[in-house]
Amino acid sequence: MQNKKELKRQKLDNSVWGIIKTTLIALPIGFATIFKHLFRRATTIEYPFKKREMFPRYRGRQYLERYDDGTERCVCCGLCAAACPADAIYMEPMENEKGERLAKIFEINMIRCIFCGFCEEACPEEAIFMGPDYEFAEANRDAFIYGKEKLLVTHPRPENILKKLWRKTRRLF
Ligand code: SF4
Ligand code: SF4
Repeated sequence: MQNKKELKRQKLDNSVWGIIKTTLIALPIGFATIFKHLFRRATTIEYPFKKREMFPRYRGRQYLERYDDGTERCVCCGLCAAACPADAIYMEPMENEKGERLAKIFEINMIRCIFCGFCEEACPEEAIFMGPDYEFAEANRDAFIYGKEKLLVTHPRPENILKKLWRKTRRLF
């Protein structure tokens, strides 16, 4: 009998304490947390409408570089393919009309690539570099084999008008 009374009193105590805890302690703490984050800058972005700028050292998809006159820098030496731990690079050489060596076929299998950057480091011509791009979803596996048509940078390069204006302004002073 004594035990039953004791249990009842404890239950009542617990429920009263529970109500106090919820209304006077937990709720204000919860609201304080909400208000604290209400006026902060959001850390999420509305991808794909907005895109996050990648860090300068980020290693995204590869590009093949050109000289200023548009000729290809790659001499098809094969060092990048030899350095590649994923065996993702395939190339075949040829010579142009001046007898200069260049790649007839240069392919990177983007499914195999692990974005280690060894190809970029191994290249003696600074012909291959990893850009900031990270979106290369495709509908079929064959499209992941990037050939020269996808890897070579466009020539002439599309100019950023703001950068051009900035350069011109700087020249004036
Ligand atoms: S980033 Fe690494 S894995 Fe990808 S092609 Fe270059 S060397 Fe190979
Ligand atoms: S990208 Fe560089 S390392 Fe690779 S084949 Fe061309 S010149 Fe050689």
